[in-house]
Amino acid sequence: MKVKTHMTFVDPRQKSTDNVDLPARLTALTDELAAMRAERELFREKAVHLDNTVFQMRALLQSGKGFSEILDLHALLEAFMAVCRERYGSISSTVMLLDDLDPDDMFYRVRAYFGVPDTYAGPDGESEETYLFRIPHDHGLIWQLIHQGDVFSVRDMRKAPRFHTAFRKWHLDILRSDVWVPLMRGSKVLGILTLGECEDGSQISEADYAFLQEIAAVAATNVDSTLKYEKNSRILTNLRTLYDVNQQLSNVNDFKQLTIETLASAVEALHAQKANLMLFNTETQRLEIKVVWGNIPKQTRDAINEGRLETKSFALGEGVSGRAAKIRKPIRANDRAKIAQVGRNEVYCILSVPLIYAGELQGVMTLTNKVKPDAEGGTVLDTLARFGEDDEHLMLSLADQAAANLHKARLYTASITDRLTGLFNARHLETRLERLLAQRTPEQVLCLGVTDIDHFKKFNDTYGHKAGDHVLAETARVMRECFPEGSAGSTFRYGGEEFCVLLPNTPIEEAERLLEGYRKRIDESSFLWEGKALKVSVSIGVAGAGAAATPGTQPLFEAADEALFASKSGGRNRLTSKVAGVLRPYVPL
Ligand code: GH3
Ligand code: MG
Ligand code: MG
Repeated sequence: MKVKTHMTFVDPRQKSTDNVDLPARLTALTDELAAMRAERELFREKAVHLDNTVFQMRALLQSGKGFSEILDLHALLEAFMAVCRERYGSISSTVMLLDDLDPDDMFYRVRAYFGVPDTYAGPDGESEETYLFRIPHDHGLIWQLIHQGDVFSVRDMRKAPRFHTAFRKWHLDILRSDVWVPLMRGSKVLGILTLGECEDGSQISEADYAFLQEIAAVAATNVDSTLKYEKNSRILTNLRTLYDVNQQLSNVNDFKQLTIETLASAVEALHAQKANLMLFNTETQRLEIKVVWGNIPKQTRDAINEGRLETKSFALGEGVSGRAAKIRKPIRANDRAKIAQVGRNEVYCILSVPLIYAGELQGVMTLTNKVKPDAEGGTVLDTLARFGEDDEHLMLSLADQAAANLHKARLYTASITDRLTGLFNARHLETRLERLLAQRTPEQVLCLGVTDIDHFKKFNDTYGHKAGDHVLAETARVMRECFPEGSAGSTFRYGGEEFCVLLPNTPIEEAERLLEGYRKRIDESSFLWEGKALKVSVSIGVAGAGAAATPGTQPLFEAADEALFASKSGGRNRLTSKVAGVLRPYVPL
């Protein structure tokens, strides 16, 4: 057992000398405690800070991951704004991105927004969509800060703008912004994120700037790659279009058809609303619309494309197309304010490229407006979309092809056209007749009319060969007017003063009526030559290939020739047809 070996008795009333320093010790202890508390507080703060950092890193990682999965630019910007807004509780935000649609006019335009009205009052008081709001590229004091890439506040403590001039000049109030976050990619400013004040009216604390900057860097990387992705997919579509157009066109000799295919492909690939092709008329020095495509009433479109409807012509330098033709360079007009209104229709953007072959201006191809898909699977005018650089590249390639095709088609047309009369030549008559006979179904009648000027030898002898040539050209013009290409039939100069008309899928009675119309017009016409009114008449023979036709072109020619001979021997200036082996003189009503 333990034995108490030592015992002291302390009288509480007696002041011990040992206890003289007690207050000092107490103070020391209190200090120690405070220090420990402070240390603990420090650790706690550190822990919170660490926690915060971990949280932020996680948020960053997540948003980074999230961002990288979004390939649609708009969705990406929305997600980016949402992350920043949620974290700082700001009531409004916008993202502006560099817009290089107009090479001479770079600016930053709103591409996504939240908590900002959908429209704003434009410079001339007109209501504009917020997506059209823009600020100039690299202009003014504010840009010095943007270039540094740091987050900064555009308002002071009292919420007054820090950049008075810029606010006033660019109407920055529209953005409802407090803090600007440059989206940097290397030294390039891709865009700017703006954040408004917090829900409680406070400003985002400067302590948060560093993190904002981090998240902006992640977003910028993704914006950049999304833009590149979109660009690449556009280039791919364009390459495919070029390839397709090339494939389609390699066998077509008809320039109209070629151009329609080209314009249709361009309209589809570039989501354009409409397109046209103008050819340069070297005689009048004007641009004439020859082919149109896209969202234009079908009747009008067909009438223009078939040459039945005259359209406005343009001087070099007139309008966007005229300017592109004049300077021989493509023009992208994307600023509505700079596009002179042509006609009644709204124009938002235009892309015009000149057609040049062997250094010569051939014409211009022009696209107008962009469209986007609507809910019904159709398309609707996209008032915000514009023509970009890739669009221009595709159109330039298509224009090169079109110019080469135009040249090829002109050579081809020349090879099948008679120079003096402008009618197709005899070689082409053979080809065309063979093709039409092969395409014909038994119930379809194909008619051939052969016309010959009466006593033309004598006419030449009387008035001279030149007068004869003139009359040949004039009678051919009347014939082309009576049988416009692409409608009733095609007209040919078979040889000398003999012209032919091919009328596919036309009953013989109709052919007789039409050709009698031509005979009558010639009979009633006089052609002015060196002050003299010259008159000629024509004799005509008509034959048809119907259900019981003998195969080949020869029988049809022979029958029509026989009918023509009958008209000549019957007294000339008349029409005879051969139907079912029987000659039938036409009796005018
Ligand atoms: P018809 O047909 O009424 O029997 O008498 P025609 O005098 O017209 O007969 P023919 O066919 O024998 O003569 C055709 C004349 O057409 C011969 C030629 O002088 C003239 N001719 C043919 N080609 C041309 C041409 O390119 N220019 C001119 N000026 N005359 C031509
Ligand atoms: Mg003759
Ligand atoms: Mg004759």
